[in-house]
Amino acid sequence: MASCADVLVLGGGPAALCIASELHQRGVAVEGIALEPVDAPWPNTYGIWVDELKALDLEHLIEHRWSDTVSYFGAGGSGVADQTLVHGIDYGLFDRAALQSYWLKRADGVLWHQDSAERVEAGAEHTLVSCASGEVRKARLVIDASGASSPHIRRPDQGPVAGQAAYGLVGRFSAAPIRSGRFVLMDYRSNHLSEMQRLEPPTFLYAMDLGDGVFFVEETSLALAPGVSYNVLKQRLKQRLEHRGVQIIDVIHEEFCLFPMNLPLPDRNQPLLAFGGAASMVHPASGYMVGALLRRGPGLADTLAAVLADPSLRPAELARQGWQALWPTELVLRHQLYQFGLSRLMGFNESLLRSHFATFFSLAREDWFGFLTNTLPLPRLMAVMLRLFALSPWELRRGLVLGAAKRQEPEFRH
Ligand SMILES: Cc1cc2nc3c(=O)[nH]c(=O)nc-3n(C[C@H](O)[C@H](O)[C@H](O)COP(=O)(O)OP(=O)(O)OC[C@H]3O[C@@H](n4cnc5c(N)ncnc54)[C@H](O)[C@@H]3O)c2cc1C
Repeated sequence: MASCADVLVLGGGPAALCIASELHQRGVAVEGIALEPVDAPWPNTYGIWVDELKALDLEHLIEHRWSDTVSYFGAGGSGVADQTLVHGIDYGLFDRAALQSYWLKRADGVLWHQDSAERVEAGAEHTLVSCASGEVRKARLVIDASGASSPHIRRPDQGPVAGQAAYGLVGRFSAAPIRSGRFVLMDYRSNHLSEMQRLEPPTFLYAMDLGDGVFFVEETSLALAPGVSYNVLKQRLKQRLEHRGVQIIDVIHEEFCLFPMNLPLPDRNQPLLAFGGAASMVHPASGYMVGALLRRGPGLADTLAAVLADPSLRPAELARQGWQALWPTELVLRHQLYQFGLSRLMGFNESLLRSHFATFFSLAREDWFGFLTNTLPLPRLMAVMLRLFALSPWELRRGLVLGAAKRQEPEFRH
């Protein structure tokens, strides 16, 4: 049996590197278990509003940045309803390698084991993690950062969990699929779809000009249970592009994306802690999380470093204090509001969704930005949601209060 670390972090993604680095910076003895080498390139590309990074003084981690950031919530065609909605805030794509090495440098000294954590057993004095290699590792506190589908974290079964599904590609095209230099957050125009297709779950285009004639285009379903299939998304993307007279010339990279949006919060009485996707930190309304890791990691590490300094505290108590710091009542209530909002949106048909987002982005910029980044205090968040309701057309208000008649079937189970 190996020696006992203060903290053992499971995972090698953004959440694991973030919390391991923050703890290491505070003098905590951290070890990690990750399936891949921790400097292996991550599969996903991460986007973020630049102001989120500005507030953290981390703008240098951005590789691509757009000031021309827009959405479309009209039906399509040439009517007034198709006018471009200008967001007026810069959007960026992380330089994945820079983000990873930012955390790895701050975690310099952390001992990483390349292995698979198979079983976690919490004892009174320490927690044991059995690995696929046969190795059993021991720590005063285990933090599971191995992603949303971790089997080690208990959470209540609240029924179907909706997935954000997307099919995207980085490529070259016969003509620019979006205006050059532009970032499109959501293009909900649907005049390329048949009447039948418009009755199906709505999808939108998320797209960006990456420069040198290369664009990223992605057909996305915000959240649905079961998640929209990749075949449907791929077909819809092709149809959307063809409608604009755009052919795909060269596929450089394909992205298949599916992750849970409204995973219930973990049971906060369990004797191990979680962080990142495993701790349900994905924003239920937007699907974003990396900004939240950067904002919430340091505070959690402060609390953990303080409680770990008391050698008499046992795993269950350490985890309890960690859960309290990660999910204080204020954040739990905000999360519940977001989940309520998402449950309403999931039943909306295409025209209601377009109407909803057009109304949402007509809110003051700091309000929609604060909502999407989960940076509004609870009273302000409630006020913003009430304002959104007041601004909404009647049909939308009805949907927000009563929910949708059509309910969805489960895809994710936990
Ligand atoms: C395609 C895609 C695009 C996304 N885009 C954005 C975006 O633009 N912006 C944003 O903010 N969020 C985005 N998200 C949401 C969220 O930020 C990501 O899902 C993020 O990767 C979650 O980080 P994580 O570290 O919690 O989990 P993961 O990234 O899933 O990492 C889990 C890690 O744990 C390791 N692991 C798994 N099992 C074990 C085990 N048994 N033992 C040891 N290690 C294990 C894995 O190898 C991996 O390294 C996106 C998600 C997806 C899927």
